[in-house]
Amino acid sequence: MHFYCEKCKKEYPMNTMSYKCKCGGFFRIYRNPDDKYSDDISIGATKTDLLPIKIDNMTFLLKMENLQPTGSFKDRGACTMINELYQLGIERIAEDSSGNAGAAIAAYAAAAGIECTIFVPQGISKKRIEQIKGYGAKIRRVKGGRMDTCRKVKENLAGAYYASHVYNPLFNEGMKAMAYEIYHQLENRVPEYIFMPVGNGTLLLGLYYGFMEIGRLPHLVAVQSTKCAPLYEAFYGLPESEKGFTIAEAIRIGKPFRLQEMLEALRNSQGDVIAVEDEEILKAKEYLGHHGIYIEPTSAAALAGALHVFRHGKPDNYRVVIPLTGTGFKS
Ligand SMILES: [Zn+2]
Repeated sequence: MHFYCEKCKKEYPMNTMSYKCKCGGFFRIYRNPDDKYSDDISIGATKTDLLPIKIDNMTFLLKMENLQPTGSFKDRGACTMINELYQLGIERIAEDSSGNAGAAIAAYAAAAGIECTIFVPQGISKKRIEQIKGYGAKIRRVKGGRMDTCRKVKENLAGAYYASHVYNPLFNEGMKAMAYEIYHQLENRVPEYIFMPVGNGTLLLGLYYGFMEIGRLPHLVAVQSTKCAPLYEAFYGLPESEKGFTIAEAIRIGKPFRLQEMLEALRNSQGDVIAVEDEEILKAKEYLGHHGIYIEPTSAAALAGALHVFRHGKPDNYRVVIPLTGTGFKS
């Protein structure tokens, strides 16, 4: 197994201290069919239920990623990435995150005995910071938003391996497992639609590459907040708008790096992007809460998007999967 540049195809070993190719291209992974990812480091199962729920006479399938060990779907990527970094003998890592990826990486790093520093932007909830600290990771608070935090970590790596959930393709490899899991839970069938919140595109790209391997794509529908919708604007060729403050903090990403790749995933899957109002997000969060499911606002955005698209009803034979990306306990 090794990394290679998606643009110029130059090869890099997986313990490279570069997070991108010298030409500016992102890394992808080359893997032989018999190369397996190690799973020595574990903090509990990463498999989650696919729960049917009826709303307005329509059935949706909720992928309960809010029940992952650290409370979000990011455990999948962290599990694969940290297991490989452990095998490679990496001793010190740094990462930037608005909370969920930071917690997942901090937890797995703790289990692997890897020293971990998480850079976080101002304004993320206290509970998220407490959780990351609870895993023994160091916190570096950065003035400004999510993009400033990303710049800061790159300038201050000081010899640490940049274990980025955005740049490192090992993280993406872990996310692909969700596609296989959904496929098996539907008795080896691909759902018609998957609605998901999209910020940096971790979930969208993970599912896209996973279903590509399986051989058939569901319609992938990205959901963003009207207050921060760079993918929506790019998909529909709209001018870039000023990015505002949405309650969906995990998708408050003004300039996602993998925008082109995300557009490709949407177009190849004949998907779409929906932008929803914060009020719709809160309504969806409340609806699920009142049915016993407590999630963060970002997760509720996906349901809000699905209810928007199917506001006049949904054909019964459409299997619509909605990953609930994170728990409500830390927002
Ligand atoms: Zn290159």
